[in-house]
Amino acid sequence: MIKTRFAPSPTGYLHVGGLRTALYCYLFARKNKGKYILRIEDTDQERYVEGAEENLIKTLEWVGLHHDEGPFRQSERTEIYKEHAQKLIDSGHAYRCFCSKERLDEMRKVQMERKQATMYDRKCVDLPESEVKAKMEAGESFVIRQKMPYELIKFKDLVRGNVQFDGKTVDDSVLMKSDGFPTYHLANVVDDHLMEITHVIRGEEWLPSTPKHIALYNAFGWEIPEFAHLPLLLNPDKTKLSKRQGDVAVEDYIKKGYSKEAITNFVAFLGWNPGGGEEKEIFTLKELEEAFSLEKVHKAGAVFNIEKLDWFNWRWEKEKFQQETENMTPEQKAEKLLEKCEQYLQDDQKKDKEKLLKAVLTVEEKILKDPKDTAANIDFYFNLPNYDKELLTHEKMKVDFNQALLSLEKVQEDLQKLEDWTEESLKQTLLETVQTLGVKNGQVLWPLRSALTGVQFSPGVFESAWILGKEETLKRIETAINKLK
Ligand code: GLU
Repeated sequence: MIKTRFAPSPTGYLHVGGLRTALYCYLFARKNKGKYILRIEDTDQERYVEGAEENLIKTLEWVGLHHDEGPFRQSERTEIYKEHAQKLIDSGHAYRCFCSKERLDEMRKVQMERKQATMYDRKCVDLPESEVKAKMEAGESFVIRQKMPYELIKFKDLVRGNVQFDGKTVDDSVLMKSDGFPTYHLANVVDDHLMEITHVIRGEEWLPSTPKHIALYNAFGWEIPEFAHLPLLLNPDKTKLSKRQGDVAVEDYIKKGYSKEAITNFVAFLGWNPGGGEEKEIFTLKELEEAFSLEKVHKAGAVFNIEKLDWFNWRWEKEKFQQETENMTPEQKAEKLLEKCEQYLQDDQKKDKEKLLKAVLTVEEKILKDPKDTAANIDFYFNLPNYDKELLTHEKMKVDFNQALLSLEKVQEDLQKLEDWTEESLKQTLLETVQTLGVKNGQVLWPLRSALTGVQFSPGVFESAWILGKEETLKRIETAINKLK
């Protein structure tokens, strides 16, 4: 059975890159009817952060990535790692190293000065048994290091294809620290084996660790899992995604009000898309489970583009709103829209509820995109902006001052006579006005729309007139005529 794991170190929050790893692990398991487990890699006691694990789990659950097994905690499994470290020593794949911090620092300094790769110089690799024993008895502190095999280590990464490392260039990493806690490399490999992980899916930054892990699997005589290293996440300027250029914690985006559907959808597309000329971009978690495959994960770094997240958020708002209001009357729908933006409106806008409800319907898309701008977007219904009379003209539509005046005077005359003030009757009357004048639609409707709204971009002219009502419409036409005279 396919089994994946998300194995975060609890640093205090869930990084967007972590969410992407968790999501791909989850999707791959679901798609293949396998299992997805959660393992907390908390062996680094120095980096312990209060509440980090709870936070992490809360965020994962919020998104909907429920794990099938776990959470397992490495801090509760230290005995297991100790046993395994001993096995490696016994079989000659690991050794005790008694080098002091000072010696190691000095060694690194020299290597750096010589522009050499900084790696352990194997001073302790072949210490005689008796010397090791004596040092241990004397209570000298030591770590256990992996003895990297000096051979070519090759593997086929499911994303990156064939990869190889020369064992000679890979450091003898510490597997057990002097405090008796394992490091990432040992605990990770032991757990992946014991927990029967078939596919290790993780960020590209772990690629250089993979030869160490493969050497450990070989040392234990265990089957090696499949590896898939996910592309780096990048800032828009193509540098590695960093806190300095924006938020990296999923929580920050939750706090800002992004929906879980949008976040999931956006994160899924950071390094993957369904391919095959597929245009569809809006996916539910369920749909992603169907569509996901590791073959479609890209090698190149994925740019974290906040505009794209905004776009997903808006599309999801629309999607959810449409579903929610599908069977509603326009009045009910308007109430729903009002709920979203009411807190951002001005007091004078809230006074005329009937007008307000009509007004919000005309800016539905904008409210769903960003309700904060609603007050500005609907203000022209309540207060006519002080506009330049040039707004009433339009060169391409052949509306000069003369034409605008002519059209508006005729409109004024026709609308004064109109009793039944509905969008439909307004449309009919105004199209008749156009006909009587023998001009093009735009030559009447452009100056009228400008006169009614006083802004360059606005909802349509018939609905604007309907919402403003007869009295206000005629008043605004009068104002425009006076500007033109
Ligand atoms: N604990 C590692 C991390 O924090 C896990 C890396 C892996 O998946 O192997 O990302």
